[in-house]
Amino acid sequence: MKIAVTGASGRMGRAVLAAVQAHPALELAGAVVRPGDRACGQDAAVLVGGEPTGVSVSAQAEEVIARCDILVDFTRPAASREYAEICARLGKGAVIGTTGFDSRDHARLQTLARQTRFVVAANMSVGVTLALHLLGIAARVLSDADIEILETHHRHKVDAPSGTALRLGEVAAQARGQALSDVAVYDRAGQTGPRVAGTIGFATIRAGEVVGEHRVYLALPSERLEIAHVADNRQVFAEGALRAAQFLRSAAPGLYDMQDVLGLR
Ligand code: NAD
Repeated sequence: MKIAVTGASGRMGRAVLAAVQAHPALELAGAVVRPGDRACGQDAAVLVGGEPTGVSVSAQAEEVIARCDILVDFTRPAASREYAEICARLGKGAVIGTTGFDSRDHARLQTLARQTRFVVAANMSVGVTLALHLLGIAARVLSDADIEILETHHRHKVDAPSGTALRLGEVAAQARGQALSDVAVYDRAGQTGPRVAGTIGFATIRAGEVVGEHRVYLALPSERLEIAHVADNRQVFAEGALRAAQFLRSAAPGLYDMQDVLGLR
């Protein structure tokens, strides 16, 4: 199966390139960067080291996507929007790991997924996918618990709370029959007053090179359950993305997430 990688010079792009190189059943079809990127025109090995790959880094997204089976995209919403439109036009599947989409983006992806198939997940790790599943159960059973979501990421991250933290919040809210937008609390400073029952609070830490840590508190007066996940390196996301790519190969048109990929529905 031929994989194209967008955002190839980014942290996740390079992790995905390395994972494709190491995978016996996958072939690199192309590596896409922004116009003007230093790597443009060079062999993709310039981004990951090792032997030459025979694939030149390119800024021509449409041309590269046309020769792949599945696109793996970890970039920014502005770029992912464009790549998703190309994939739908060409009937190519895509694994989209970019975070920071708004509700209009999600609606558009849903529409485009009638023409092709996408896996969209703010966190591609198997551990986080399981944590989401467990949280759904815990939030329903501990229906009175105060839910607080704490996330820590490296200093380069540009969106907050993380896409994963928001997804954890959505799953917890949905498990209680609520919409996250009705119960989320993103800011606390000054005279906040006591905690409002039923809300879901978020706290964000940005520091150093932390790859990604998420901790959900479900606190009752006499006990507290915590669901926590720590990513030690970016390989977990890259390997999850390639698992999603293999799932898409035989999937019907539609919009999927990692719960579908792992058969947790
Ligand atoms: P990064 O800044 O290292 O890389 C981003 C890449 O996107 C760069 O190569 C950049 O050139 C490219 N890019 C940015 N804007 C572009 C544009 N307009 N057109 C074309 N290319 C553009 O970031 P990163 O740490 O690799 O993260 C990338 C995305 O993946 C972020 O949204 C991050 O939150 C998300 N992420 C998701 C997961 C997951 O499991 N789903 C895991 C880690 C990171």
